[in-house]
Amino acid sequence: MEKEHKKGIREISPIDVYKLLPRTNCGECGEANCMAFATKVVNGETSIVNCPPLYTQKYSKELDKLEELLAPLVQSVSFGTGGNAITIGGKHVLFRHEFTYQNPTPIAIDLSDDMAPDVISARIKRVIDFSYTYIGRPLKLDSLALRSVTKDPTRFRELVQIVCNSCQIPLILCSTEPDIIAAGLSVCAERKPLIFAITKENWETMGELVLRYSCPVVVSAPGDLSLLRSLVKTLKEWGIDQMVLDPGTYHSDQIGKTIFQNTAIRKAACKDFDPLFGYPILGTPISVWNGQELSEELNRWQEAYLASMLITRYADLLIMHSLEGWVLLPQLIWRFGIYTDPRKPVSVDPGVRTFGNPDKNSPVLITSNYALTFFTVESDIKTAKIDCFLIVIDTGGLSVEAAVAGRYLSAVKIADSIRDMNVGDLVIHRYLIIPGLAARLSGETEEETGWRVLVGPRDSSGIGQMIRERWPPTEE
Ligand code: SF4
Repeated sequence: MEKEHKKGIREISPIDVYKLLPRTNCGECGEANCMAFATKVVNGETSIVNCPPLYTQKYSKELDKLEELLAPLVQSVSFGTGGNAITIGGKHVLFRHEFTYQNPTPIAIDLSDDMAPDVISARIKRVIDFSYTYIGRPLKLDSLALRSVTKDPTRFRELVQIVCNSCQIPLILCSTEPDIIAAGLSVCAERKPLIFAITKENWETMGELVLRYSCPVVVSAPGDLSLLRSLVKTLKEWGIDQMVLDPGTYHSDQIGKTIFQNTAIRKAACKDFDPLFGYPILGTPISVWNGQELSEELNRWQEAYLASMLITRYADLLIMHSLEGWVLLPQLIWRFGIYTDPRKPVSVDPGVRTFGNPDKNSPVLITSNYALTFFTVESDIKTAKIDCFLIVIDTGGLSVEAAVAGRYLSAVKIADSIRDMNVGDLVIHRYLIIPGLAARLSGETEEETGWRVLVGPRDSSGIGQMIRERWPPTEE
């Protein structure tokens, strides 16, 4: 197997990067010195593009070396243009806990040229409108996969035209017939679609199209990794480098084969440093609709669990058919979880939040800055329609219970936060409502702050009832 001697991101030390930086400590990057910048680069917290002097002629050789050193083991591939462009791949590691996964798996929804115009419009609208806010982040669908089913270039061109007139969503053009892809490209080449697919049968003609239009392309060899690798080698030597791998997506009792193939490819890229497998992988849960005759409901169910498995093992792009919320929402939430940085809890900024129209007699509540906790508390307060102040304490992104156990939430921390955030100026009373899970801090907190403590519910869904029943407090 052809191998490149390359370091994974975990083997790169800040010194490796530092040696190639200008080392003038000029501070243009916003860091105190070049070493601090190098450390952040290695941790994935900043990028070398934030060092302006590096991009001057004087450092061009160092820049080339740095780009080579820091290149991900799985290459980044982009399609679409401008603010709508999608980047896939760009992975540095096999396992998420080793570093973090980059570029969350986009989900493309299919449209085919045998669909009636009103069905096409309705599906485009559902893709555009699909939106859900989870832990304060918007979750959305990403792309449209346009399939030629009629095998008629004119029909395909019409489909592409309708979609281009309707939205700016990045496109995937799906056909193994070069004349059909050419018809689609005649309408949308400037939008830099991803082309699906080059195969062993069409590689010369489709390869010429890809080169002519400079579009990224999926290389497809279902069930044959050796052929897939050989096609990639040939295309790479020909000058095509923006490739996505399609080893085939199998379903039902063949799911194991899909997971095995994806794992073999990703392992070859990240452990054996095989550049020919160092490309993003396409997963097509839509394939369940081509299988044995099942009810639509069962197909959707199969598509849902296949998509989840593919996001986990190691699909960088998915093409799906179902548009039902119960199929798609779990994928988006799962993707969110898989692609968060495992080294850092998802947190929100500490500070005072106001809800409704609080006045000087309104309740003051306390919570942690763990994002899931904060957004749950926020949602429960809004649902209960309470006018109040919520003090979000910097617990290092830990939940209330973990923060109390680890002393990230303590009476002293609460007292410091109340003082630093000038909470005493917001209200004329001196009552704090602390989470039920922090009940053990109540005595100490009264001593440290001088405020009376009311212990709130263990579950924030009970905040509304507590405020209705116990606010304003009657205790002396
Ligand atoms: Fe060093 Fe570049 Fe930052 Fe200047 S901008 S301190 S040269 S890393």
